[in-house]
Amino acid sequence: MNLLQKTLSFDDVLLIPQMSDITSRKEVDISSEILENKFSLPVISSPMDTVTGPKMADAMQTAGGFGVIHRYNTIEEQVDLIKNIKSDFLAAAVGVAGDYLERSEELVRTGTTLLCIDVAHGHHTNVRNAIESLKNRFGDDIIIMAGNVATGEAFSDLENWGADIIRVGVGGGSICSTRIQTGHGLPTFHSILLSANSAKRASIVADGGIKTAGDAVKCFAAGADFVMLGSLLAGTDESPGQVLQNNEGGKYKVYRGMASVEAQVEWRGKASSLEGISTTIPYKGPVRDILGSLGQNIRSGLSYSGAKTLKDFRNKVKMVRQTQAGMRESFTHILTR
Ligand code: IMP
Repeated sequence: MNLLQKTLSFDDVLLIPQMSDITSRKEVDISSEILENKFSLPVISSPMDTVTGPKMADAMQTAGGFGVIHRYNTIEEQVDLIKNIKSDFLAAAVGVAGDYLERSEELVRTGTTLLCIDVAHGHHTNVRNAIESLKNRFGDDIIIMAGNVATGEAFSDLENWGADIIRVGVGGGSICSTRIQTGHGLPTFHSILLSANSAKRASIVADGGIKTAGDAVKCFAAGADFVMLGSLLAGTDESPGQVLQNNEGGKYKVYRGMASVEAQVEWRGKASSLEGISTTIPYKGPVRDILGSLGQNIRSGLSYSGAKTLKDFRNKVKMVRQTQAGMRESFTHILTR
């Protein structure tokens, strides 16, 4: 008897190549929209203190996406970060308690057009109250992003509460230990499938565990409108933090979960409910190179399914499950003696 439902992760699936008449990647349009705002690159940088500050937000905007300024600071510090962004689409994260209303007020006064209600468990009455308060205060002038959610039911609830764009993925982040510490979560790919099945109006942001361009392509295949990235963008010139050097000359930068001891102690002087880790990752140079190849690979991905837009892709894409042997073959695997 099959008591428990099986779930799918990125590595469990492959997309079947299909007939194509696309002769150049330039023919492929991967733009995505939130309300009337169009983005030529459907990629968002995560509101984390080692990922998105003003330099990352500017680079994201230049590449065609956008960045969300993190909330792990005082209102004044966050407003200062927002003021330092040259881009015209300003997005910032807020919480659901404490100073979040005053913070939102100041951020909107400074020109912020998207407020991201940024909590680990988004299917929560606190999030409903926060969405309602922000909608009452700002009406439709402000875009509300909220999350994170794992199920179709949660997606529908946040949508009904008024969220315009919803972050999907619980426990999948590369620095996340939620599933180990609490036993809860769902593979991000599976959550996107569930959300896409429920979505009526709100945009879907796949968030957590996207480790390659191929994973991003699978997110779009499953119904995501955007991907949100942490580790893929951390360690670059534009991510906040110093470049560190070890004795062998290797260069690194810190990348940390916002629920790690290190991040919590720095922003609120104490740590509880540890659901993330802090680590160093190799220094990667300018983020435009990463975003450039990501864009090229996503375009290539669509062309393998013969699709010229994300919508076209979702209609045409055919997926299969792969075995462990298939997965081994999928990675580069030249034999060594
Ligand atoms: P990554 O792209 O796999 O590195 O995942 C980034 C995502 O992990 C973020 O956008 C958040 O949704 C999530 N995240 C950030 N900090 C933490 C944490 O401390 N614990 C769990 N998840 C986190």
